[in-house]
Amino acid sequence: MATVSCPKCQQLVDSQAVTCPYCRTTLKAYGHPGVTLHRAKKNEYLCESCTYHHDDTCNFPQRPYAKDCTLYENIAERQALLEEQNNATSLTTSINNWIKRHQALLILLALLFICLLIAMH
Ligand code: SF4
Ligand SMILES: [Zn+2]
Repeated sequence: MATVSCPKCQQLVDSQAVTCPYCRTTLKAYGHPGVTLHRAKKNEYLCESCTYHHDDTCNFPQRPYAKDCTLYENIAERQALLEEQNNATSLTTSINNWIKRHQALLILLALLFICLLIAMH
């Protein structure tokens, strides 16, 4: 069972819990376990660290002073994810480039291998 800490009372609760069993804070929007209702910490607004605030794509009326939001996406987490994806792509690109650069050699090796197979018969 995955657990998250309640944003209000910091108790560990089931990540699927709709309300916190300790302080009754609403954790999910529309009473649905799949929709996480993100909550801002005291003296903070969610929008400050939200991707959609920084790229200016959010048009929620509560922006930039949202205390809770279902769409919130942490900008630091998002950037870490993007970086990971970039690293993965650059690895594939460099493998592809290597193959392209050594294509002639690879073909030669393949031919040599075939000749060897034929010679062994
Ligand atoms: S999605 Fe929510 S948290 Fe993010 S900027 Fe819009 S209102 Fe703020
Ligand atoms: Zn709680």
